[in-house]
Amino acid sequence: MRMGLRFAAAVSAALLAVSNASGQKKDGPADTVILHGKIYTMNSRQPWAEALGIRGDRIIAVGSDQEISKLQSRDTQVIDAKGQMVLPGFTDCHIHFIEGSFSLGRVNLAGAKDAKDVQQRLRQYGQAHPGESWILGRGWNYAMFPGSLPDKKTLDEVFPDRPAFLEGYDGHTYWANSKALALAHIDKNTPDPPNGAIVRDPATGEPSGALKEAAEALVAAAIPLATRGEKLSALRAGIHWANENGLTRVHSAGGDFQELELYDELLRHGELTLRFYVAYFQDPPKLRPEDLAAIEDARRKYTGDWLSAGAVKFMIDGVVESHTAAMLQPYSDDASLRGQPFWDADTYKSAVAELDKRGLQLFTHAIGDRGVRMVLDAYQNMERVNRTSGKRPRIEHIETVSAEDIPRFGRLGVIASMQPLHSYPDEDTLLVWARNAGPDRASRAWVWKRIAAAGGPLAFGSDWPVVTLNPFEGIQTAVTRQTAEGLPPEGFVPSERLSLADAIRGYTLEAAYAGFREKTEGSIEPGKLADLIVLSQNLFEIAPSAIHQTKVLTTIVGGRVVFQAR
Ligand SMILES: [Zn+2]
Repeated sequence: MRMGLRFAAAVSAALLAVSNASGQKKDGPADTVILHGKIYTMNSRQPWAEALGIRGDRIIAVGSDQEISKLQSRDTQVIDAKGQMVLPGFTDCHIHFIEGSFSLGRVNLAGAKDAKDVQQRLRQYGQAHPGESWILGRGWNYAMFPGSLPDKKTLDEVFPDRPAFLEGYDGHTYWANSKALALAHIDKNTPDPPNGAIVRDPATGEPSGALKEAAEALVAAAIPLATRGEKLSALRAGIHWANENGLTRVHSAGGDFQELELYDELLRHGELTLRFYVAYFQDPPKLRPEDLAAIEDARRKYTGDWLSAGAVKFMIDGVVESHTAAMLQPYSDDASLRGQPFWDADTYKSAVAELDKRGLQLFTHAIGDRGVRMVLDAYQNMERVNRTSGKRPRIEHIETVSAEDIPRFGRLGVIASMQPLHSYPDEDTLLVWARNAGPDRASRAWVWKRIAAAGGPLAFGSDWPVVTLNPFEGIQTAVTRQTAEGLPPEGFVPSERLSLADAIRGYTLEAAYAGFREKTEGSIEPGKLADLIVLSQNLFEIAPSAIHQTKVLTTIVGGRVVFQAR
């Protein structure tokens, strides 16, 4: 693609601006150039380009092969994109990174068909890992156990003497065998903990092995803690996996604030090849002085392009499948349930206002329509009492929302941080989720298009390890609202299908905006960080059903190649 004189002038101006900002020479050569690419820039003034130049950790120019070739010297590294698509590196706006990293080495039950299949996988894993004292894993879903939750007996048949503890795919319900329950001292006399439930046999009162929400902690306390070395090696594997899938930044939504120092160690040793924005997880029932101290301390300490803190994550409710998401009306399959919020509305409101006053960004998990409304109310209140605006508070998930609340995202500037793969219309979604929610609420399932049409900013992510962190599967689901097999044929709430360009934007420029990084990340333009990916196929030239087959060929973060496909 040829660029005219006006473009050349713009490049010079940009070069000047960059050199002034960084104190580098105005017209020095590029350290790296990418040539012969189909570069989709996310910059509306120059949507497509062939080539770009990088100096240090920044993009210095974007243009035609001819223009960019002029920036080459003998020492310039030349990457030939061979006509492949180049995109800004992807940001995953909702991830549980250390848990995901550990999940890479544990039992993976995702995609198992039924209890038999689960047993088969467990047996194999157990035989391959004879030294592991606890069998840990995740990924089972509710549809594998039609009409009920999983039972300890299924696990006892495989592991009569070894404790086994398996997280449901959504991280809200857990499954223990008898040995694990015994080691955790859970029996029929153990009371339910706050915001959690020990599921019991209705006849005998014996724990069934299923544990909801906060009851997980009872078993977790009995599992030997991972050592520092084990955590670091899990993180290295997780970071590599993220780069291999095209991620250059993640927003960690809870679970690893306590591990910030490990990320910092990786950074100091030049091993951090993924940028991290890490949120503090604020437990109910209230904000305490020690929470504030920890948040403020981390925010002061971690402020760079690679590692930063300054966000606080709340959870207002649970999930639809286990009836813990807070709903305005009773659940469709059980009129006695509507899901209890984890926070008292006023306590949550004042905690939000206090954190906002300190300039912290807020993330709140809200899945049911009542949960979403409570959060919107609290964000609206905080702007009023603090007389602030533009603070970009976020709601995470938003699986269903009342029609009258949809325009409030745009009106209040609340970011809808959604995970397209959660709407993946498999049996778990179409049978369990939709049955519990009922047809009316299901007609407003994952309404990213309506939220965006009403001016609400979108930010996409995975919630890894709940689902894969592969963003191409997320993009395909956002665009098709179908499974990989093309079901349902008409799409699940097909009016919510997003354009490909908008879906990519949700993982790039809007994702950058959701973390206050749009000035330096999220698009390919001079002055921005050189975070880029080269893909195996041009997403605009293939059928939407083939998007998930896309492979990342090269990942560059801060000007450095951190992943190269063989
Ligand atoms: Zn999450």
